[in-house]
Amino acid sequence: MLNTGPSNFIQEIISQDLLKGKHKTVVTRFPPEPNGYLHIGHAKSICLNFGLAEKFGGRCHLRFDDTNPRKEDPEFVRSIIEDVRWLGYDWGEHLYYASDYFSRFYNFALQLIEQGRAYVCSLNPEEIRRFRGTLTEPGKNSLYRERGIEENLELFEGMKRGLFQEGQHVLRAKIDMASPNINMRDPVIYRIMKEDHHRTGDTWCIYPTYDYAHCLSDSLENITHSLCSLEFEDHRPLYDWFLEQLNVECHPRQIEFARLNLNYTVMSKRKLSMLVQKNHVQGWDDPRMPTLSGLRRRGYTPRSIRKFCDLIGVAKSENIVDMSLLEYCIREDLNKIAPRVMGVLNPLKVVITNYPPEHSEALEAVNNPEDESMGTRLVPFSRELFIEREDFREDPPKKYFRLAPGREVRLRYAYFITCEKVIKDEKTGEILEVHCSYDPQTRGGSAPDGRKVKGTLHWVSSRHARKAAVRIYDRLFLRPNPAQDEKKGLDFSEALNPESLKEMRDCQVEPGLEKAGIGDRFQFERLGYFCLDPESEPGRPVFNRIVSLKDTWAKIEKKMQSESGS
Ligand code: ATP
Ligand code: MG
Repeated sequence: MLNTGPSNFIQEIISQDLLKGKHKTVVTRFPPEPNGYLHIGHAKSICLNFGLAEKFGGRCHLRFDDTNPRKEDPEFVRSIIEDVRWLGYDWGEHLYYASDYFSRFYNFALQLIEQGRAYVCSLNPEEIRRFRGTLTEPGKNSLYRERGIEENLELFEGMKRGLFQEGQHVLRAKIDMASPNINMRDPVIYRIMKEDHHRTGDTWCIYPTYDYAHCLSDSLENITHSLCSLEFEDHRPLYDWFLEQLNVECHPRQIEFARLNLNYTVMSKRKLSMLVQKNHVQGWDDPRMPTLSGLRRRGYTPRSIRKFCDLIGVAKSENIVDMSLLEYCIREDLNKIAPRVMGVLNPLKVVITNYPPEHSEALEAVNNPEDESMGTRLVPFSRELFIEREDFREDPPKKYFRLAPGREVRLRYAYFITCEKVIKDEKTGEILEVHCSYDPQTRGGSAPDGRKVKGTLHWVSSRHARKAAVRIYDRLFLRPNPAQDEKKGLDFSEALNPESLKEMRDCQVEPGLEKAGIGDRFQFERLGYFCLDPESEPGRPVFNRIVSLKDTWAKIEKKMQSESGS
C-alpha cells in the first residue's frame, strides 16, 4: 500500500458513511484543469484522493476539468498524466474528461430551462456584475429573468448554433438574487466562447462554467466523496442545488480541506505560468519551481513527496508549511538510498611530494554507511589531487579543523596528509597549489600509532577525475510569502532571489560517475545530494544539487535574526 499516512477528518467522515451503509465502494477523483503543470499543492490533493481510495479499497478517477478552451492545452494534459503516474498512482481505466460530457451537460441545461430554473440573460458582462450586488447589498433581478420557457429554449439553441456574439447572451440558473451567498445569485452556467477545444474541436461554441460542470461530472462518474480546497466551501450550496434540481441518481458529498501553502515560493498555476512566460525561470520543469516536473528534475523522489504529504496532514485551517519540511523528507529518503561519491566543487590542487610521480592505487570506499548491502567501490589515488578550496586556510580561524600550514588531516578513505608549503601567484597572491606529505602507514584513513586528526576532507585524483558542472539552487524568492505581496498590490516577481541559481563549471568528480544515468542521485560527501540533469552531455555531466546535507538556510536565518537584534 502506497499511502499509509495518518488518519484525518475526511477519513473519519468516509468511515462513518461506510458504517451507515451509505456506500459500498468509495470513489474519489482528482480533477485538474489542464491549464498548467501540476505543483506540490496538487500533490497534496492527489495523495489525499488516491490515498483514501486505496485505504478503503475503492477507486480514484483522474478527470480533466477541461471546460475552458481558452486556457487549456494538450501539453498540460500530457504533463499531468506523467506527473500523477510518477507520484505512483494508478487510475486504471478511469481516465475522464469533462469535455466528454458536453452533450449531457447541454441536456441537463435544457432540463433546467424546462423546469423554469434557468434562463437566457442578455445583460452584458458589466451589467451582470453590477446587478449582482455586494457582500452587504442584495443583487437585483435581471430584466430577462422572467423570459418564457419557449423563448429561453429557442435562444439557448441559438447560442449553441453560433447565432450570437460572445457576451451577447448567457444561460443563468434562476435561484435567488437576494441570497446572502453571492454564488447563489443566479450564477452563469453557460457562456458563448468562439474557441476551438483541444478535444471537441469546433463542435461547441458555448462552454459550461466550473460550478455547473464540476458537480455534474462528479455525479456522472458516481463519485462518493468530492474533495476540494477550502475556497469552494461557499460554492457547496450551488453544487448541491444543481444536483437536487436535476434529480440525479448520484449526489456526491463535497468536503473541503485547506490548500497547501509553502513559504519562499508561489503556488498557483497563474503565477507559475507568469514566471515561465517572463523567463524568470527556464521552464515549468526548472529545478527551482515547486512543480512536480521541477521537483523531479531537481532530483526529488516520489516517495519523499508522498511522505511530505503524509506529514503535513489534512485539516480545515489554512497555514504555511516551511520549505525545510520538504527538504527533510528528501534528505531522509536519499540518506538511505543514495550512493556516496566524492566530488570537488571548487578545486584546489594538492601535490603529495613524497608520493611516487607515476604511481597510482585504488582505494576502497564505502558506498553507503547506512546500507552495507550497497557494498564498496575503488577510487583512484595519485600524487596530484584536488580538494575543496574552502578546505584550506592559510590563516585558519579558531575551530577550523581542516587543512592549514603544518597541520595534518585525513583524506577520506585514503591517507593522513600534512601541509608543508603553499604555492601562490606572486602578483595576485592567489593560492595555486598546496604541497603536502603523506604518511604511507595511514592507508585507509587511520594511524597504527593511534594518533588522531580532527579534519577529514573529500578529494579526487586530478589525473583520474572527470570535469563536471554543478548547479546549486537556493530559494526562488527572498521573502517568505510572495503571494501576500501581490495582495498588497506589489509585483510578486520583485521578491525573486537573484541568486537562486549558481552554476559552477569547473567541478571535478570521481571517475565512476562517468557511468551515471540521467536522473541518478548521489550524495557527494560533505556537500549534499545531487542528481544528474537531462541537459548533461557525454563528457559534460551537469549535476543539480537537490538539497544540502544540513539545513544551512535555517542557520543563516537564525544568524540574520540574531544580528538584527530580534
Ligand atoms: P491553482 O490555484 O494552482 O491554479 P487550481 O485549484 O486552479 O490550482 P486545479 O487544476 O483546479 O487547480 O486543481 C485540481 C485539484 O487540486 C483541485 O481539487 C484543487 O482543489 C487541488 N489543489 C490545487 N492547489 C492545491 C493546493 N495548493 N493544495 C491542495 N490542493 C490543491
Ligand atoms: Mg482551478
